[in-house]
Amino acid sequence: MKSENHNDNDCDVTVIGGGVIGISSAYQLVKAGYSVRLLEKGLIGDGSSRENCGLITPSHVLPLSRPGLIVKAVSMMLQSDAPLYVSPWMNWTAMRWFMQTARKCNLSDMKHAMLGRLQLLDASRPMWNEMVNRENMEIELDEVGCIQVHAGKENMETFAPIQKMLDEIGLFATPLIGDELFQTEPGLQSDLYGGWLYKMDAHMRPESLMSEWRRVISEMGVNVIEKCKVTDFKTNGTRIDSAVTNKGNYSSKNYVLASGAWSPILSKKLGVKIPIQPGKGYSITLERPEGCVKIPLILNEASMAVTPWKSGLRLGGTMEFSGYNSKINHHRIEALKRGARRYLKEPGEIPMKEEWYGWRPMTPDGMPIIDRSPNYGNLIIATGHNMQGMGMSPITGVLVKGLIAGDEAPFDMSFYSAARF
Ligand SMILES: Cc1cc2nc3c(=O)[nH]c(=O)nc-3n(C[C@H](O)[C@H](O)[C@H](O)COP(=O)(O)OP(=O)(O)OC[C@H]3O[C@@H](n4cnc5c(N)ncnc54)[C@H](O)[C@@H]3O)c2cc1C
Repeated sequence: MKSENHNDNDCDVTVIGGGVIGISSAYQLVKAGYSVRLLEKGLIGDGSSRENCGLITPSHVLPLSRPGLIVKAVSMMLQSDAPLYVSPWMNWTAMRWFMQTARKCNLSDMKHAMLGRLQLLDASRPMWNEMVNRENMEIELDEVGCIQVHAGKENMETFAPIQKMLDEIGLFATPLIGDELFQTEPGLQSDLYGGWLYKMDAHMRPESLMSEWRRVISEMGVNVIEKCKVTDFKTNGTRIDSAVTNKGNYSSKNYVLASGAWSPILSKKLGVKIPIQPGKGYSITLERPEGCVKIPLILNEASMAVTPWKSGLRLGGTMEFSGYNSKINHHRIEALKRGARRYLKEPGEIPMKEEWYGWRPMTPDGMPIIDRSPNYGNLIIATGHNMQGMGMSPITGVLVKGLIAGDEAPFDMSFYSAARF
């Protein structure tokens, strides 16, 4: 099988990566009439797209790279349960990435990234309803908004100038102080100071999304090939001839690199530099308790998210930079439970159904790369969606299709240029 060439020259596009970005790209391409195959090294959703928090939040335009990040990271380096952890044992590639990130931690670059992120989140937001209706997807899409909760008055006040910046770009929030907070979300503990309600936000269940996506694109004719790991490429000058995999070589006219946090490993084979580091996050999933919160929450001081569905409750968060390290750190799982107990009335003792980790594809400036490769004319790069890949996925698929079809871009694409680093 290994030496087999799948010379299916009729195939227009090979998408590499069965996460939300690869699938959304495959969907838009097949919908536009292209023949598409999707190669996934494991099973669909095996990367970071399955058991994340499922938030669709235009309000989350702030990138990780912002003033104060480096001081915060250094101060938390020795804390085993810190929500932000940077391993001191980093290799040269990671060190270079941190230096690039450090240079972006200023107000002007942060505001620039907010605009680039907003374009994607904003354009994607109405597409969720359209997709769910058109494709009859059952993903528990719910549009109740999201509350950023502050346990203390000081933190709520510290956030006020940031909210002012969000107001300036149209991301208005309703402040909820004391009783207003508990009337809006009675599942919260009653000693919390306040919060900001973002009515434009929504959420869905990501595992359901990924299995529905698999069904939809298969029915539309995408050739989904799982357990198929791309290990190299055959090239000819400035074009890719085929993707080399454990199941043989696959050739097509175009290729889409959508391999999330693994993208730099693959792009290195092509001599294409993609500055991405895996930002590990954890989630725990619980049965839905009696008295469960109804609105998704960002628990500010605990730096974690809480997502309620009819089918369960998820706690998620932490940002751990320790390379491609697949160990689950139970100190961080415990920190999620502690955070939940501090803010939520239920569940008290938190009986856990499942724990999970995922590697977010983190770029130094918080924006993804959605562009044609400068080195290979038939390669589109769609990766680096940081902490918002779910929320940004619908429009990313449209942009990938547009790059292949030669469509006019709907907005300024320079934010997502592959050559910007
Ligand atoms: C705890 C946590 C909570 C999060 N919450 C949210 C949220 O609420 N909202 C939100 O918008 N985002 C959230 N995110 C971020 C989101 O999960 C990511 O941005 C998104 O999943 C990235 O999608 P992707 O398709 O680029 O990557 P992935 O989902 O990682 O997919 C990449 C795929 O490529 C495959 N692959 C890699 N190498 C190869 C190869 N050589 N050959 C073939 N296949 C390959 C992988 O197996 C993987 O399936 C969260 C992340 C975490 C960790």
